[in-house]
Amino acid sequence: MKYTEDNGAIPVAPLETPTQTEQPILVYDIDGKRYINLTNACTLKCKFCPKHNGSWNVKGYELALDFNPKANDIIDKLGDLTEIEEVVFCGFGESTLRLKELINIATHLKQWGKKTRLNTDGLGNLVHHRNILPDLTTCVDALSISLNAQNEEVYEQHCCPTLSGSYEALLGFIKAAPTYIDDVTVTAIEGLEGVDVHACENLAEQFGVKFRKRYLDEVG
Ligand code: SF4
Repeated sequence: MKYTEDNGAIPVAPLETPTQTEQPILVYDIDGKRYINLTNACTLKCKFCPKHNGSWNVKGYELALDFNPKANDIIDKLGDLTEIEEVVFCGFGESTLRLKELINIATHLKQWGKKTRLNTDGLGNLVHHRNILPDLTTCVDALSISLNAQNEEVYEQHCCPTLSGSYEALLGFIKAAPTYIDDVTVTAIEGLEGVDVHACENLAEQFGVKFRKRYLDEVG
């Protein structure tokens, strides 16, 4: 079992990270948005994830990291944000595993008047054994939560969570999220065996959040 985050107490999916031969990419741009690559650690080991299928590349950016950057490492790399419409926490890892760093960076971004979005697996409350949403309410404007499946069986089949009770915890996170964050979207991927995207959309509707369909092999 590997561990991440400063208190060293959070279990994550085992992962072989390629040896870093070039400068790590901590910040990258896609379509006018600036993305933050905070960690490679995940609580899931999704079978459809490029990093578990030999690729760490997103739209030309190699996102493998062989260390967990500190908030100041990221802040120093953010650069000129004048033309950037939104800053998104999203790499090949789960940013809520680095919660303190995430909040620190997001708080800086809000002080600079930037819109922030967190792309997450929705397992932050399960991992941290508490409701982390109040911590995010003042520094995260939008949440994009990977639902990925309409039921636990299909979720386990594709996402291979390391923690028991992950799907139930994910649904609880989605249900609670709109109390703290105004803009909440859940996503599911079209084209995965057994995934009923319409049923996922119906779940989103029941929870009163938005839904976005994604496509297999389309990353970023
Ligand atoms: S949560 Fe995201 S980064 Fe982590 S294994 Fe799944 S698809 Fe990959």
